Amino acid sequence: MQKISPIQIEWRPEKNGHTPVYKQIVQFVCDKVAAGEWTVGTKLPSQRALAELFEVNRITITTAIDELTSYGIVSGRHGAGTQISSNTWSLFLPKSNWNEYLKSGSFQENNVMIQAINRLEFEPSVIRIGTGEIDPRLFSQSMWSKTLQKVGSKLTSLGYLENLGLLELRQAIAKHLEDSGIRADPENILITSGSLQALQLIAVCLLQKGSTVFTEAPSYLKSLQMFQSAGMNLKGIPMDENGIEYWKLSSGETVDSSVLYTIPTNQNPTGTTMSENRRQELMKYCIDNQLPIIEDGAYQELSYNGVISKTLKSMDENGMVIYLGTASKTLAPGLRIGWVVASKPIVERLGDVKMQMDYGASSLSQWALTEFLNSGAYDEYLSDLKIELKNRRDNALKSLGKYFKNLASWNKPDGGFYIWLTFKNNIKIEQLFEAAIKEKILLNPGDIYDFKEDHSLRLSFAYVNSDEFNRAIRELSEIIKELN
Ligand code: PMP
Repeated sequence: MQKISPIQIEWRPEKNGHTPVYKQIVQFVCDKVAAGEWTVGTKLPSQRALAELFEVNRITITTAIDELTSYGIVSGRHGAGTQISSNTWSLFLPKSNWNEYLKSGSFQENNVMIQAINRLEFEPSVIRIGTGEIDPRLFSQSMWSKTLQKVGSKLTSLGYLENLGLLELRQAIAKHLEDSGIRADPENILITSGSLQALQLIAVCLLQKGSTVFTEAPSYLKSLQMFQSAGMNLKGIPMDENGIEYWKLSSGETVDSSVLYTIPTNQNPTGTTMSENRRQELMKYCIDNQLPIIEDGAYQELSYNGVISKTLKSMDENGMVIYLGTASKTLAPGLRIGWVVASKPIVERLGDVKMQMDYGASSLSQWALTEFLNSGAYDEYLSDLKIELKNRRDNALKSLGKYFKNLASWNKPDGGFYIWLTFKNNIKIEQLFEAAIKEKILLNPGDIYDFKEDHSLRLSFAYVNSDEFNRAIRELSEIIKELN
């Protein structure tokens, strides 16, 4: 057999170029193969060597190799064994220059760390201690089968639904919202395909290019690209233990068409709940400065200290708050059901565009959620879920006290899924992420959510049970000691 000599690579990616670095690497390999310089069987340097050569992190290399693997150009992606496996890759694409089109769309790509997390979440045996989802083992099969059976026996059709979504569901949500102090009629409610779609609709229907979206720093919103993709600027405002420090919004910046996006209750990623005083002050500030609010209530119902925080929407007397709800964090993200509560012209405007986008959220899911809410099954299930989450939170805090006392500081959330942990040393989070993955622990680094590089993690006790959390935290503390 012919011996293939190691390849020499002089090329380097352009770090500050328009094209993401991993895409440049994909293009570079494609060009080499297309030009016939790298033939089938050519071995690429190991991922580690490529990362060093191109002075990029390993995740960038993994992302590039994954994309090349999906085209069939390379195979054997793990370790040092990646090699060119096909030079006929262009046959798999509708046009060989589709690659060029990949750069053209206006919607920005996910950050590479998030792409890696999205991929790694589905690797078997990985322990996910940052995931914002309820443990699938808490799925109550008997409750679901009872509810879905009832839905099945009542269904007479599964056609398209009216613009704003199933009337029966909007009625049930209107009633349910009374617990959060929100008075809304069904015509003030729009059903969306998850609250992500609600955010998308707001970005394209209500805001303008160049306007500013203020939000807590850190915030879940920073992990999304939808506002930036639509040409808006995202600006992080610091928080303290009572919530967003709204007075740090300098009044000159709250120009026309800016908005504030906030998650006041059990915030993602910090777990912070805004105090009642802060809520009142914030509302006053926003009224005085004519700054509309998008209130994301994804974790509103998940407070487990018995106190129901007053929603900003419940204090809203002039329609300046758009409230977002979702079934994803309490019940099931796979339903893909969220809702927008706002004045009639707003829900109609959003509903009109939603019809153009997907002609309505799943009717089956809408019937299912209606049944959950109307039968009382939802409320019963929710109180059990909160007990479970509270136990997991207590365990998580104990575990952190045992293994991270000298390494980090963290908060005690009153509800939701998350603990925000900040390291005392300037630990390199990417390095920690990679080292943890080797031990099958998947982390959600704080940088995904923050506006500056930080040394934090979003920990979640929702997805793993207490034993798994403890094991992962113990192992993580050992990894950190080794890295230090
Ligand atoms: N808002 C917040 C604060 C979230 O944490 C999430 C999910 N991570 C969403 C919205 C999106 O949820 P969905 O689209 O599933 O309703």
